[in-house]
Amino acid sequence: MGKHDAAHGWITPAARSLRVTETGPIAEFDPASTPGFDGDKVRGADLLVERGETLADLQELLYANGRAGDHRSVLLVLQGMDTAGKGGIVRHVGGLVDPQGLAIRGFGKPTPEELHHDFLWRIHRALPAGGRIGIFDRSHYEDVLPVRVHNLVPQAEWEKRYEIINRFERDLVANGTTIIKCAMVVSKAEQKARLTERLDRPDKHWKYNPGDIDERGFWDEYLEAYQAIFDRCDDDQAPWFLIPADRKWFARLAVCELLISALEGLELDWPKADFDVEAEKRRVAALTE
Ligand code: AMP
Ligand code: MG
Repeated sequence: MGKHDAAHGWITPAARSLRVTETGPIAEFDPASTPGFDGDKVRGADLLVERGETLADLQELLYANGRAGDHRSVLLVLQGMDTAGKGGIVRHVGGLVDPQGLAIRGFGKPTPEELHHDFLWRIHRALPAGGRIGIFDRSHYEDVLPVRVHNLVPQAEWEKRYEIINRFERDLVANGTTIIKCAMVVSKAEQKARLTERLDRPDKHWKYNPGDIDERGFWDEYLEAYQAIFDRCDDDQAPWFLIPADRKWFARLAVCELLISALEGLELDWPKADFDVEAEKRRVAALTE
């Protein structure tokens, strides 16, 4: 069989092969690997186009149900070190569906106003409405990542947040939100290459933040902080996945697959028309022209 044969694809579903309980610790995870997938870049790109259509269909189904009053939604949480490609996922996976059905939010350093509230305040306000797919580019997990690494609040305070997050996510799930959490894992070498490119290209300077180099100095501390969220906040109801991010084509394909399985899990049907279809057919048939 040829290398680009359609037979090459997922050997193990992404939802299984990428789950943190399967991948092992982040510190030993290979950011250039393609767990569960035996195809190459060409096959991966082809498959993304095909699966993108499935994703778009499922998203339309979710949106239609939302319009009919269904409160269910999907929330995709994206985390990852600088340059891991969170923005690329928003563009290339989010870009596969009707933008009307998306609720995209990025979370930067908290504003003075946000700091006057508890850390989940800004998160609550950004949750997707029924029928929507929410995408968080960074999330409430920042409050146990940089905040933990730099002790931006005392340890006694950030320690409590894991349980607060678990409770928050349990409530969300109980209220109809399907949560999938993706940590994009980039290697140090690939991060260096991407930072170099940002400096070499004037059209990428806007993405370059000198502070990212300082954060890179805390790499191992970040790995530890990430491992802590996987150990303490991974649950069948709100699972964490490791997304190898050195190969962008694979990261996109993987997140697309995870979204598809989340949407399929909702087992949605097209909502029933709230009008008399037969009567409307007669009225339309009777129209002149
Ligand atoms: P970017 O995603 O490149 O726009 O960068 C956003 C920056 O805000 C990153 O350095 C994040 O770590 C930082 N950030 C986001 N949320 C928090 C938070 N709750 N506490 C501290 N820093 C945060
Ligand atoms: Mg940045």
